[in-house]
Amino acid sequence: MNKKYIGYCGIYCENCAVKVKVEPASKILYAEMKKAGFEEIMHLLPDGDRFWSFIEGMAVHGVCASCKEGGGNPECAVRICAKEKNIEICASCESYPCEKFAELFKGYPLLPHDNSIFREKGMEAWSKLQEERKKRGFTYADEK
Ligand code: SF4
Ligand code: SF4
Repeated sequence: MNKKYIGYCGIYCENCAVKVKVEPASKILYAEMKKAGFEEIMHLLPDGDRFWSFIEGMAVHGVCASCKEGGGNPECAVRICAKEKNIEICASCESYPCEKFAELFKGYPLLPHDNSIFREKGMEAWSKLQEERKKRGFTYADEK
């Protein structure tokens, strides 16, 4: 497991729908549109240039860097706090789960379970769980 994909909150970036579904889909759409010659006519379509720049950026440069590399919400309070405390993953923080997790738990209902695995069984068990999910094409969005 590449640790740079472990979000401070305990989300594993490799299992995010953006990475698993949206980015690959954008590559297919971009390639098909390019093959069909859309690049030359996009400026004729409403907001065509903006769309082309968006889809090209997504397909060529990727949608999101990982949490640890600055992707996601730049104002994420969890990340700001964890960085200030020099904590790699909040599950290892003595204040976990702090009040900053209330909203995150609503959006990611598996997160309390996953972070409990980390706290009770350690990084190895947590990594095994995430890698097993990755192999079967899981995304957090599927569990909402
Ligand atoms: S940016 Fe915030 S919510 Fe997103 S993975 Fe990182 S810590 Fe979690
Ligand atoms: S207090 Fe601890 S658990 Fe809460 S966001 Fe900061 S580092 Fe994470």
